[in-house]
Amino acid sequence: MKIGIVGAGQVGAASAYACILHGIGSEIVLVDRDPALARGQAADLAHAAPVAHGASVRAGGMDALAGAGIVMIAAGVPQKDASETRLALLRRNAEVFAEVIPAILREAPDAVLLIASNPVDVMTDLATRIAAASGVPASRVIGSGTILDTARFRALLANHLGVYSQSIHAHVLGEHGDSEVLAWSTADVGGLAVAEAATQLGRPLDAAARAEIDEGVRRAAYRIIADKGATWFGIGAGMARIARAIADDQRAVLTCCIRRDAVAGIGPVTVSLPHLIGQGGVIDTLTPTLAPEETTALARSAGIVAAAAAAIAV
Ligand code: NAD
Repeated sequence: MKIGIVGAGQVGAASAYACILHGIGSEIVLVDRDPALARGQAADLAHAAPVAHGASVRAGGMDALAGAGIVMIAAGVPQKDASETRLALLRRNAEVFAEVIPAILREAPDAVLLIASNPVDVMTDLATRIAAASGVPASRVIGSGTILDTARFRALLANHLGVYSQSIHAHVLGEHGDSEVLAWSTADVGGLAVAEAATQLGRPLDAAARAEIDEGVRRAAYRIIADKGATWFGIGAGMARIARAIADDQRAVLTCCIRRDAVAGIGPVTVSLPHLIGQGGVIDTLTPTLAPEETTALARSAGIVAAAAAAIAV
């Protein structure tokens, strides 16, 4: 499958690199407003391909996206300075999407769009509304959402319990951001509720341990940004994971976001839930049965995203 990537900065390049190392996609095309950057990234990435799975990697204009089955969007503009409000930055990013989404769909009308640009839930909502004008269903516009937060939750639980992270099923729902919801009530290890498993393993999940894990998940990006300015490897791996589910028609359950009529009674809204992902995008959505306080938190999170999205007109 041909994979296009629009926005060849750190996140776009990390997504391409993860795809190349995992053998996802036979051809990868990088497009950026800065053609020299796209060219340089493509040349650098192309040298990784022969020692991995041999995908062809090149840079090009929008026309090079023709025939792509997936187009990742990691284009964005940085904050001008500290005086620029989040809403002003969001509006400038919305202008980027108003330009790139129709251009992508002109070249690759059947592609699944995979969005990383932040704030990812709002940008995915916006992309869905723009793409709808070209007849694209919401199930074909997927935001990375909380795929990364979910990975962080599983990693921290794994560390606490001394269990391999892939043996832990746990999800972060809602906004990719401060209001996200760690779904403790549905987390399980080997078919046991996570609290029961923790007790049996002699590593109880008391309030202090839960608070530490919650803080570790919720504040992870802030910590990384304080240390190195931005994050890109984790999200690159997450984007590649979603791409694999689509390219291989895996029907994998991944937490990411699509626009839905309602989530926890709020809608329409674009926040993360566990979705069944395969050929063509999201095939179905699983709605977890949460504890009452988690449902309340999810409704609050959905309300925050819905309000932010409503402030951006298409
Ligand atoms: P970056 O500045 O390195 O790259 C962004 C690229 O977009 C730049 O190269 C820029 O030239 C390009 N661009 C801007 N407008 C364009 C247009 N109209 N057409 C084509 N290209 C265009 O930034 P980055 O670190 O790669 O981050 C990219 C986005 O991903 C940001 O919005 C960032 O906040 C987001 N991000 C999301 C997550 C997540 O979990 N979803 C994690 C990290 C970063």
